[in-house]
Amino acid sequence: MYHHVKQLMYTVHVDNPDPRFGNMLLEQFGGPNGELAAAMQYTVQAINCEDGGRKDLLMDIGTEEISHLEVIGNLARLHLKPTKKSRQAAEANPFISIVGGGGVGLTNSMGVNWTAGYLKISGQIEVDLRSNIAAEARAKITYERLLNFCDDPGSKDALMFLMTREIAHMKSFMIALDSLGKDPLEIGQMPPDRRFVNKYFNDSTGTGPEGETDTRGPWNTDGFDFEDSPVLTSLSESSGRRLRT
Ligand code: MN
Ligand code: MN
Repeated sequence: MYHHVKQLMYTVHVDNPDPRFGNMLLEQFGGPNGELAAAMQYTVQAINCEDGGRKDLLMDIGTEEISHLEVIGNLARLHLKPTKKSRQAAEANPFISIVGGGGVGLTNSMGVNWTAGYLKISGQIEVDLRSNIAAEARAKITYERLLNFCDDPGSKDALMFLMTREIAHMKSFMIALDSLGKDPLEIGQMPPDRRFVNKYFNDSTGTGPEGETDTRGPWNTDGFDFEDSPVLTSLSESSGRRLRT
């Protein structure tokens, strides 16, 4: 069950409201990488999780994300407040001003409605934890970009707190994944077909418009057989000539 405490997880001060910046902040309120998406993803994963320890982790972090939603929502609302009365401010987001009366709504910065389609819930803990590590990485970079466009000290302070917590969550999810004791490439129960799992197909060949060319690195060398594209192999076999460039 839930219980609400009438205090923000992190105190929010806005010295200079900036409606256009408030509109950008909606990305972390109702956007694809925002706090509601994180809260719902982890909470629903927790409901489905049959591993007691990790279920608890998912519920803890899912609940913290609801507290983040409250912080970012209050921060956005303070920046958007001038859209209640000022025509010039209202132009930052006419929908919020005219339909929402200057308050936040569950949309991204472009007014697109939040959707459960943003969520990744697989019912397989090692898959869910990977989705969550990626979700935290996206949330982190979104906060970083918002910070780069912010010059209000109070807002920066709250955004830095929220950005930092995403790295803390990422760390927990990474350790929870590692502590499953599964091989990093062991996903689900069924092993992959050994004939194809260690092959690397060189599927983009030649020299590109920016001079890029085939690169050999650990991602196609370590434990891999580096082979020509199956397309080129079959074409050259069927036409009897070499098509490689
Ligand atoms: Mn968060
Ligand atoms: Mn997080």
